Amino acid sequence: MEHSLKDFFGFTKFRPFQKEIIQKVLEGRDCLVVMATGSGKSLCYQLPPLISKKSAIVISPLLSLMMDQVMALKQRGINSEYLGSTQSDSSVSTKAGQGNYDILFMTPEKALGLSNSFWKGLARNGLSLLAVDEAHCISEWGHDFRKEYQQLYKLREVLPNVPFLALTATATERVRGDIKRYLNLDNIFEVVSTFDRPNLFYGAKYISRSQTFREELAREVLKDCRSGGSTIIYCTTIKDVEEVTETLTQSGIDARGYHAQMRPKDRETAHRAFAHDEIQIIVATVAFGMGIDKPDIRRVIHYGCPKSLESYYQESGRCGRDGLPSSCWLYYSRADFGKADYYTAEAETEARKKVILDVYHAAEKYCRSSTCRRKYILEYFGEIVPYDNCGNCDNCVMRRNVQERDMSEEVHLLLSSVDLCGGRFGIVMPIDVLRGSRSKKVLENKFDELPLYGLGSSKTSNWWKALSDELLEEGYLKETRRDMYRFVSVGPVGKKFLQNASSRRVPIMIIPNPEMRDE
Ligand code: ADP
Ligand code: ZN
Repeated sequence: MEHSLKDFFGFTKFRPFQKEIIQKVLEGRDCLVVMATGSGKSLCYQLPPLISKKSAIVISPLLSLMMDQVMALKQRGINSEYLGSTQSDSSVSTKAGQGNYDILFMTPEKALGLSNSFWKGLARNGLSLLAVDEAHCISEWGHDFRKEYQQLYKLREVLPNVPFLALTATATERVRGDIKRYLNLDNIFEVVSTFDRPNLFYGAKYISRSQTFREELAREVLKDCRSGGSTIIYCTTIKDVEEVTETLTQSGIDARGYHAQMRPKDRETAHRAFAHDEIQIIVATVAFGMGIDKPDIRRVIHYGCPKSLESYYQESGRCGRDGLPSSCWLYYSRADFGKADYYTAEAETEARKKVILDVYHAAEKYCRSSTCRRKYILEYFGEIVPYDNCGNCDNCVMRRNVQERDMSEEVHLLLSSVDLCGGRFGIVMPIDVLRGSRSKKVLENKFDELPLYGLGSSKTSNWWKALSDELLEEGYLKETRRDMYRFVSVGPVGKKFLQNASSRRVPIMIIPNPEMRDE
């Protein structure tokens, strides 16, 4: 096994669990592998076919993902192909039937559409395994549910003696149960390893999406570039990809965009340039990356909050695979959290809708959290975290540098302002009032006549917004949504706080670091 590892991949030793898993697969056991992104799951299905000289089938959800992998494997001299592009499919499947490939990738749709005689032909030549990659897609409790995945048990019936290997980087206990059940996994070998990536720094920062911010980002990135390593900037829309790429380019940075509407050829060129260090920066939508195999990515920056904490952890986890210190910054803006309707539009059932909202709100909460980010993520994935302070995330570092301070005065001001605005506005109005804004809306409502008008002008509006995020989190403030709008009012904790104003208990809070949170 070590020989093959060295010969084909040039690695000298196995990462944790790889060897055990490969052994079990070679013995014909079904396996369920839940390991963090970057922990080396792919090797578990790549090596067995090379050792046993029998093809492996890999089911994978996305064409782009398979293309990336096939490209990387071919570069290593491993004979692999994918089924899914209609032009080349018939010749690929003929060759596959003759046992010509070490590894054959396909989407679940494709796999389910292939004839029994195709599978029987493959099985006659012997199959080392059938891998189901991104296996969490099987579960409605997963963040990337795909209906076709649930039909994959049918392949068990045509391939009765082939070990199944299900792999994912994210699976709660419930999702793991679904994977086992839907795939009829039998007498399985199960590996669930920690999700922690101690070498990654995690941080999140509130921004307003603007040209000014993009220029600031460009300056940061430029500084980073000088210290070497590659960077991925993930955007939530194609428009953002274009705007960010343009700003970076104008600042003299050689950045390339990557998204699903580009021609496959251009995507491949961009990918290749990034993989071969011809460019340091790629600005991409989620279309980029699943299966990306670059160990020395030093930074993953998110410009906008992704649709689930699962996606965020997976995408950010693409940096630092070589174990060296790397950083994951998430820049979020208020607009990121108004997309619930958009994300739930395609949900077919109420239950599904709830899952989409849950994972989305977990991401929002992550952004707004003022406690250890690593702990938050790990606990979300069901791990027990014995510490409160990891020392390697923005909140832990900030806590170390900034003394906790009594903020009751500011809290009182903000709550009173929200209260006096009568729950008819978002958070911007009460902050404008505190800052003494002369905006039309303030004057129209005669808010300039309020006693607290202008009392908070020594702080920036982002400072107040950061404070309001903390207060929302702690129940001092409450947000209700109606249609497109959000209304802020005083929450139950805040009411109590205001009532006991004279003898009020002092909330201990972390000062929102103005430098880190401001525009
Ligand atoms: P995952 O699928 O779990 O996200 P990958 O399979 O893409 O992770 O592996 C992450 C990186 O680690 C890749 O660059 C891969 O080549 C590398 N890798 C995998 N196994 C080993 C090993 N035994 N020794 C060194 N590097 C490895
Ligand atoms: Zn921390």
